[in-house]
Amino acid sequence: MDAGSAPEQVTVGSPGWPGQVTERTMADGRPMFYFDDQATPGPVHEAIDTRPLPEPPHAGEVRFDVLTGEWVTIAGHRMNRTFLPSAADCPLCPTRDPAHASEVPDADYDVAVFANRFPSFAPLTVDPAAPHPPVLGPADQPAYGHCDVVVFSSDHSAAVVDLPAARMRTIVEAWAQRTEAHSVDPGVAEVFVFENRGEEIGVTLTHPHGQIYAYPFVPPRSAQLLQQARRHRQATGGNLLADVLEAEQAESTRVVLRGEHFTAYVPRAARWPVEVHLAPHRDVPDLAALDDAERAELATVYQELLRRVDRFHPGVDRVPYISGWHQAPTGEDRELGRLHLQLFSLLRAPGKLKYLAGSESGMGAWINDTTPERIADRLREVAS
Ligand SMILES: [Zn+2]
Repeated sequence: MDAGSAPEQVTVGSPGWPGQVTERTMADGRPMFYFDDQATPGPVHEAIDTRPLPEPPHAGEVRFDVLTGEWVTIAGHRMNRTFLPSAADCPLCPTRDPAHASEVPDADYDVAVFANRFPSFAPLTVDPAAPHPPVLGPADQPAYGHCDVVVFSSDHSAAVVDLPAARMRTIVEAWAQRTEAHSVDPGVAEVFVFENRGEEIGVTLTHPHGQIYAYPFVPPRSAQLLQQARRHRQATGGNLLADVLEAEQAESTRVVLRGEHFTAYVPRAARWPVEVHLAPHRDVPDLAALDDAERAELATVYQELLRRVDRFHPGVDRVPYISGWHQAPTGEDRELGRLHLQLFSLLRAPGKLKYLAGSESGMGAWINDTTPERIADRLREVAS
C-alpha cells in the first residue's frame, strides 16, 4: 500500500463550534479525522503514516439466529487484537518516536477518529464462503459497516470526566459529525456511539477512547425499543421516549438533573446497580440533529453525570461504566426512535461487580439488587 497521503480536506464544523476537522488517510487506506478544539490557520496534522501495514481489514460475516430473530456477528479476526499494551506500545498515543509508531502519526492532537484496525464491521467485505449453509433462515451476510475509534485526548492517562470543557464540546462535535457521515451510507441501518471505561468490563486499551459502530442491521435492543414504540404510537399517537421523559419530569422522583435542553433520570425499571438515562427535551433522532445550544449543554451535562457516577460508591475513585447513545435507525421506523443516552455501571459495591448470571444471561430476565429510587437519591446526593 502507498504511504498515507497529504491532507485531503480541511473543514470547519458547525458555526457554534470553534474547532476544525482535518481528514487524512492511514498507511493501509483507512480514513482518519483530526478534530481540533480551535481552528488553526495554516498547515496542521501533516505527519504521514509510513508504517508497513498489511492490507486493510476485511469484515467478517453476520449470521441469523432463527431462534431469536437476531443477527450475530462472527468476527474471528478480532481474537488477535491488541490487549492491554504498555504505555510505550499504546496504539492510540501520538507518534513521538518513529520506532514506536502508533495509529496516530501526528506528535499531538486533540481528538482523533479513525477506522478500527480490528473491526467488527467494515466497508471492505468478502462474500461469506458458507461451508455450512443455514438449515433454516436467511443466508449469512457480509458484516458491512464501520467501526470508528474516537480518541478523546493525546494524554494516555486522562479520563473523559476530567477533560477541559472545550475538549468535551469537540468530542460531542466528533460524535455528531461521524453519526451524520455514517447515516448517509445506504448500507448502514443504525449508528451507535459508545464508551467502555474500566478493565473490569473488558476494556482492552486504557488510553481514553470511545467507539462508533455503524451496523448493517438494527441491533436487538433497538429492535425491541422500536417494537414498544410502535405499539405505543398505535395506542396513543405519541412518541414513547418523549412520553416517558414527560412522565419522569412530572413525577420527578427519579430525575437527577434538569438543564435547559436535557433531563437525566433513572429509568423506572433500571436493570443495573448504577444506571441513568439522559434525554433531549426536543424530539431529535440523533446527535447530528442537535443544534449548537444543545451540543454545548450536552458537553457540560455529560461530564457532570460522569462525575456523579465516579462519586457513587464511597472509596472508589474511578467507577467502570458503559455509556451508549441510542439513536433512531437511519431508514425504516426512523420516526419511532429518539436520541437518548444510557449510562450504567456493573459495579454494585466497592470491589463487587454485578455478573450477568443464569437469569440475565440465560433468560434475559433481569434482577436488580437495589431500587431505581435509591440510585436516583444517590446521584442527586453527589451532585457538583
Ligand atoms: Zn496511549
